[in-house]
Amino acid sequence: MIRFVNVSKAYLGGKQALQGLSFHLPIGSMSYLTGHSGAGKSTLLKLIMGIERANGGNVFFNGHDITRINSQQIPFLRRQIGMVHQDYRLLTDRSVLENVSLPLIISGMHPNEIKRRASAALDKVGLLHRANHLPAHLSGGEQQRVDIARAVVNRPQLLLADEPTGNLDKALSQEIFRLFEEFNRIGVTVLIATHDHNIIQQKPKPTLVLEQGHLRAFQ
Ligand code: ADP
Ligand code: ADP
Repeated sequence: MIRFVNVSKAYLGGKQALQGLSFHLPIGSMSYLTGHSGAGKSTLLKLIMGIERANGGNVFFNGHDITRINSQQIPFLRRQIGMVHQDYRLLTDRSVLENVSLPLIISGMHPNEIKRRASAALDKVGLLHRANHLPAHLSGGEQQRVDIARAVVNRPQLLLADEPTGNLDKALSQEIFRLFEEFNRIGVTVLIATHDHNIIQQKPKPTLVLEQGHLRAFQ
């Protein structure tokens, strides 16, 4: 599903964020991405999303080299990827259901179908009863589940998460990882950048270890 071949990324100003990265994430896999702050985790995720572009090497998404695609093809790439954030990034003046509906509204779907699919996604994360609430009325763990529902509502092939439990306690973190495992079980490929050693020990998965922009291990 994702293949990096000798990928390097330097930001303007010369900061080398990633260097000579090669690895493969097969379809249907679930993996972790770890490394100290500044190791290049967010940069790696941004290369997959087409938010940043590699300076060297190739990034393949389902066999397509996304270091070569043009800007018109990027929305098509993004629609196949769900992204979960550390800080949830929900719109505070929209209901939970409206937040989850947004990716479908952008894709121009019929309102009835949007409501049905957004409700189904909320049901999957156990929050259908909160559909008409504002995000501020939800706990941190619930807001993270809304972010996950929004990330999967388009039925993406790939789910990426950047420190999804950075703001949550141990019990809530386990619940969030259980949800990722559920989506993985129905076929979604999952890659999670995390510092959460508790979870990594409890639910071992193949782990990409970054150290100052180099891939130290993938096991
Ligand atoms: P991580 O997610 O592991 O904390 P990042 O990918 O955010 O690491 O950052 C990797 C390195 O690239 C860091 O040294 C960071 O300061 C640098 N960096 C990240 N984004 C930018 C940017 N937009 N411009 C310049 N340097 C950046
Ligand atoms: P629906 O078919 O109405 O979308 P489902 O009950 O099959 O409802 O799924 C509920 C939600 O779970 C979907 O909206 C989607 O968010 C997520 N989902 C289900 N199957 C997949 C899949 N194969 N890939 C990604 N997400 C999925």
